[in-house]
Amino acid sequence: MKTLIKNCRIISPGRDLPGGNILMEDGRILFAGNGPVPPADHVIDAKGLAAAPGFIDIHSHGRSNYDFCDGTPEAFAAIGRDKLQDGVTGFLATSLSVSEDALRDLCRQAEEYKKEVKDGASLLGIHLEGPFFNPSCAGAQNPAYLQTPRIGLVDELNAISPVKKVSFSPELPGGSEFTKELAKRGIMPSGGHSEADYECFERCREAGMKHLTHFCNVMTPVHHLRFGMVGGGLMDDDVYVEMICDGVHLCPQMIQLITRVKGPERMMLITDSMRAAGMPDGNYSLGGLPVIVKDGCARLTTGQVAGSTLRYHEGFKRLVDLTGLPLCEAVRCTSLNQAESLHLGKRGRIEKDHVADIVLLDENLDVRMTICSGCVRWKAD
Ligand code: FE
Repeated sequence: MKTLIKNCRIISPGRDLPGGNILMEDGRILFAGNGPVPPADHVIDAKGLAAAPGFIDIHSHGRSNYDFCDGTPEAFAAIGRDKLQDGVTGFLATSLSVSEDALRDLCRQAEEYKKEVKDGASLLGIHLEGPFFNPSCAGAQNPAYLQTPRIGLVDELNAISPVKKVSFSPELPGGSEFTKELAKRGIMPSGGHSEADYECFERCREAGMKHLTHFCNVMTPVHHLRFGMVGGGLMDDDVYVEMICDGVHLCPQMIQLITRVKGPERMMLITDSMRAAGMPDGNYSLGGLPVIVKDGCARLTTGQVAGSTLRYHEGFKRLVDLTGLPLCEAVRCTSLNQAESLHLGKRGRIEKDHVADIVLLDENLDVRMTICSGCVRWKAD
């Protein structure tokens, strides 16, 4: 069956085309461009809307009062379904520092979700955020479960469900060897929750660490004599940085500086959302620790920021507002950079042969429709 989206502005990296048509079949894009309207079995009139590559959230713990670490089918189903409302067509189920048994459960549920759930966003892999973190940089991770890097645990989890990315503190014993072992397996080593100095980060970068986890948050800052991981992230052109644009984790000037120095080719918007995303203020939890959400900001009782309540499209809006990036550049940060650096398939462009993961946005960049593999999975009202 062929589905056509007609009359839309097509926004794809490096390309902004008014009055476009997108033809999809069997989950792929057959055609995207101007010209005569191709025949189709099903037509979506997208007049007044922009079609952008579906958002890929590579760092998200939860939504709608569920967390992937709950390890239940209900949690995966609810998060995967409700993230569609935020324009997300693909995600990495992201862990926290929890028990090894809880990590195994998370990976098993990820495989069940892929097999059983057909009405949610696509689960593209696992992101292990921890448990290999420096106790001095736990942030909102539960210190009870932190451990030193152990490739054996990653191998075991990866055999249950493919792991795409591991966030860890590179300064821990065996950090550079662990980086090499991950890279050898095609798993992205990502530095984070770290007090590594610039030299330590550089050693790991040369060994394959090309991502930085929630850039600037719980990470050695830049100093004119001690350059830190933030300095490395800004300086090194081969490094991609995750950014939480929720108004809490990065100040407007830092978002503008990162955009100026790194450019949209190396920025990746994430939510780092915890279970309170899409929920009202109140009492929640993260990795077994109590969290209070007030005015949309999630904090531990100590005051430490504990993930976000950000919905993906809101971060996209904030990035565009603050930086003035053209939409056809800003969409590199929502999909293409993630897909290319983590080998998530032909995603992130609205072009022939790419996966038909598309979000339709109105002039305010609010989500009107979310299409996964050519199927309409969610529409507003
Ligand atoms: Fe974190």
